[in-house]
Amino acid sequence: MPISASDKSVVTLQGIGVSPGVAAGPVFVLSGESLRVVDREIPVDKIRDEVARLEDALIETRSQIMKLQRDLASQTGVANASVLDAHLMTLDDRTFIEDIVQYVRDRHRNVERALYDVTERYAEALSSVDDAYLSERVADIRDVARRIAKNLAGDSGNVWEDLAHRHIIVANDLSPSETAGLRRDMVLGFATDLGSATSHTAVMARALEIPAVVGLHDASRKVEPGDHVLIDGNKGLLILNPTPEMLNRYGAEDVARQTIRKGLDSLLHEPAETRDGHRIVLSANMESIEEIEAVTRYGAQGVGLFRSEYLYLMRQGVVGEEEQATVYRKVAAALHPAPVIIRTLDLGGDKIMPQHEFAREVNPFLGCRSIRLSLLYPDSFKSQLRAILRASVEGNVKIMYPMIGNEGEVVRANELLEEAKRELSAAGIPFDKEIDVGIMIEVPAAALTAHALAEHVGFFSIGTNDLVQYTLAVDRVNERVAYLYEPTHPAVLELMRRTIEAAHSHSRWVGVCGEMAGDPMLTMLLVGMGVDELSVAPSAVPVVKEAIRSVTLDQARTLAETVRECRSATEALAHCRRLMRETAPKLLEI
Ligand code: PEP
Ligand code: MG
Repeated sequence: MPISASDKSVVTLQGIGVSPGVAAGPVFVLSGESLRVVDREIPVDKIRDEVARLEDALIETRSQIMKLQRDLASQTGVANASVLDAHLMTLDDRTFIEDIVQYVRDRHRNVERALYDVTERYAEALSSVDDAYLSERVADIRDVARRIAKNLAGDSGNVWEDLAHRHIIVANDLSPSETAGLRRDMVLGFATDLGSATSHTAVMARALEIPAVVGLHDASRKVEPGDHVLIDGNKGLLILNPTPEMLNRYGAEDVARQTIRKGLDSLLHEPAETRDGHRIVLSANMESIEEIEAVTRYGAQGVGLFRSEYLYLMRQGVVGEEEQATVYRKVAAALHPAPVIIRTLDLGGDKIMPQHEFAREVNPFLGCRSIRLSLLYPDSFKSQLRAILRASVEGNVKIMYPMIGNEGEVVRANELLEEAKRELSAAGIPFDKEIDVGIMIEVPAAALTAHALAEHVGFFSIGTNDLVQYTLAVDRVNERVAYLYEPTHPAVLELMRRTIEAAHSHSRWVGVCGEMAGDPMLTMLLVGMGVDELSVAPSAVPVVKEAIRSVTLDQARTLAETVRECRSATEALAHCRRLMRETAPKLLEI
């Protein structure tokens, strides 16, 4: 760890620790704009070259937008793709382009500076008029300017390429796709003003095993590029200008935690079973093919949730059937015979691609996200289903539909699956005809009608990240209401109980794949409630396994019965903590 202390005053900020570990180092402040606005003087004899750079970037931008439009038309229909016409119009706006060129010529500044200033001038002028159409034009102009800026930088859209040394990234917010583009070797850790424990950015940090703190409110305004900070992903702290004593103390605590974790390596080949032999399937959540190694290293029994939408988010675009089939098949083959559950696209909410920006909704988590989006575009949904089916020849692939809210959605998704199967059969392409299909239970309506839903599928996986937000009306990515986000709230647990009971009465198995499954403090409760499978971030497998192996099924069931009587999330949590202290005290120190 490149630690260097400073004699400036210490400032401690409290946020939410979302990915364990301690990191210290210089800060890289990521703010979409400052990153791009390099200011350079251009000598008179180089002005012509500078204008040529702009022209090249414009050509590149045009061809990218046109490609995006083609992809979008094939995925979602021509009507949606035509929204990008506004972006092409901006590129063709001679006055806008001429203003940028004139800025460079008159002021002898670089194109990036000119582009930024001219864009902001236009944006300000348009914003000052109270007109919905013109407000949309502001967004279009800024979006096109961002694309041009990226091309000027010769960059493919990955902001992380700007980092030359290892830093702690401090940002107001990081989108899941930005986090997905993180270069692990260049990032010591990250800290954001916004976000909470189940935001997809936090999920990604855990998958990448990068210490992270979110919900720090105004950290990105309190630090300066190059400042030294320490972040503690367990305690949720960011310390600006840490003293040498602090660096040593937090570093030592981290080493102690790592030593306990290391001790759990001995469990690698041990089963995830209670002391009296009750087995739980302990699988891993995956976002990208790179995680296969971690899934195996931590000893997960397969993949309980493959978040397929990350293929799109990392690419920032549509991924074709052929390529999807190749990725799914690679994962299935690498982990065979362990099951691999591929969840169909769960885009929307906080997982937005640039081409979705035009479709921004007032309440994205309640809007056209996930299975709703897939069912709206049956052709692209079927193309994903065919890709999964093609991978299923490996014999260990299962399909899972996210965010089911009513029986009709499962029925429709299954109809499309049957169509996809017929299409493959007609083309003579082999697949697993008995492929198992399941759904995620993440909407209270699904939990309450689980009996009916169970008739159409082979298994359930409870997505607690969303189930908690929808049950408690608490935005899962909003740090201001994070204190209300309580997985052990009696209402959430009651919905989970009903789901488990419905699954078992139809002889279906039921898992939990939300972040709750990876919190060892809650493992014993989930086991006692009757969950058959837990799917967690790969690095959480050993701690969850240890928690399972520390209790008997009777102890876990007694805990679940006690918790059932609790009137608050805090009370329930206190019972979980008490059993953990009795049976696996070292886990409390991790
Ligand atoms: C969930 O909602 O619990 C879940 C696992 O899905 P995601 O976090 O991808 O929304
Ligand atoms: Mg979800």
